Amino acid sequence: MFEELSGRLESTVKNLSGQGKIRESNISEALREVKRALLEADVHFRVVREFVAQVKEKALGEEVLSSVTPAQQFVKIVHDELVVLMGGAHRDIRFENNQQTRIVMAGLQGSGKTTQTAKLALHFRKNGGHRPLMVACDVHRPAAIDQLETLGKSLGIDVYSERGSSAEDIAEHAMEYARKKDYSLLIFDTAGRLHIDESMMQELRNVHAIANPHEVFFVADAMTGQDAVNVAQEFHEAVTCTGFILSKMDGDARGGAALSINNVTGVPLCYLGVGEKPDALEPFYPDRMASRILGMGDVVSLVEKAESVVDLEESKKLEKKLRRNQFTLQDFLDQLRKVQKMGSITDLLGMLPGVGGKLKGIDVDPKAIKHVEAIILSMTPAEREKPKILNASRRRRIARGSGRTVQEVNRLMRQFEDMKKMMKQMNRMSRKKGGVSGAM
Ligand code: GDP
Repeated sequence: MFEELSGRLESTVKNLSGQGKIRESNISEALREVKRALLEADVHFRVVREFVAQVKEKALGEEVLSSVTPAQQFVKIVHDELVVLMGGAHRDIRFENNQQTRIVMAGLQGSGKTTQTAKLALHFRKNGGHRPLMVACDVHRPAAIDQLETLGKSLGIDVYSERGSSAEDIAEHAMEYARKKDYSLLIFDTAGRLHIDESMMQELRNVHAIANPHEVFFVADAMTGQDAVNVAQEFHEAVTCTGFILSKMDGDARGGAALSINNVTGVPLCYLGVGEKPDALEPFYPDRMASRILGMGDVVSLVEKAESVVDLEESKKLEKKLRRNQFTLQDFLDQLRKVQKMGSITDLLGMLPGVGGKLKGIDVDPKAIKHVEAIILSMTPAEREKPKILNASRRRRIARGSGRTVQEVNRLMRQFEDMKKMMKQMNRMSRKKGGVSGAM
């Protein structure tokens, strides 16, 4: 969905590479590109203008890390501002212990309300073990009740429905029924229209008054772009919404609504509908989305992670060794153990733009570490210090001594070279803060 946007932002940032410092002159083109990319993704021009101004102010004013390049710094700023734009943290449903939770769904006809009702019910049955009841209050669209019943049957989720009753009566009876049957989660599917009209709003307000919901989720169709944001705003004014769900994000929606809906309405975007199937629902995480949009690998969390784990003193020593080409297999083993503590190496590598792809083969599951350890411990101290002397006969001896194959010894030596490269990059990123230097 954001391919176009991320493609443009990526090339913008590439153009920044090689620049020595973040200056107004060298980011103005990048900012123009960001602006163009956002407008093309169908983000409202006022939101875009504000966003770009914000990024510019941060880029020029912020103290920058000496260890990252201006391009990386720029990505980080755009990333952070995107997160703010999209509402900051992920907002989940407020469940109270041992209490029934009620959600009212609202939205225009065809926006995907009925489908998202089933998705939410399924989601919370799976995550949190809720016992959901879906309430069919959409009495205006003839097929809506059947649709919900069919969905309920196929998922094994109960549906409360009545034919020929008003939405208000159905809601009221469903409340009674749920009390008796002890459902922990009620989701009311309500009626939409093709356009906002007063009778629809009044009915929604009535159902709202009866259900006394903890959440009112407005479902907006992402394919309608800025319109989705405008309609969301109108609904919010009529019946205070607590969260939004953007449906059809899997289609060729340009995604702009996801970027601006929170900024325009002040209401968080909580979920994305990403397909017609009942499990095609994703919780919306602004930071993950920002990384996805930038398509640059998560430089920011790499820097944060590296800073939190790498001991500065030690990292300086290591850096010196790397610079002088004195990084040994013993250091390699130490680093491998440390990296293991930081989490999965594949995750870590995925965060490194450029380097990630090349190093993806490195395997550090605990068993593999044991093998690496065995191989390195079978080496003489001289071999550990100077891996260059490892000729074929030494490698054969080491393989025998460690109970591994020569191929494994060879692979380790390749990984050692790759690790040296990675450590170089990581140390550059986690160094002290100060002026800007270098390029991406
Ligand atoms: P309602 O009138 O608001 O209840 O809308 P429906 O739930 O009936 O959905 C309208 C159409 O959109 C149906 O054909 C759904 O299958 C489809 N739909 C709903 N959510 C999604 C989604 O996230 N992605 C895609 N591709 N289609 C969706």
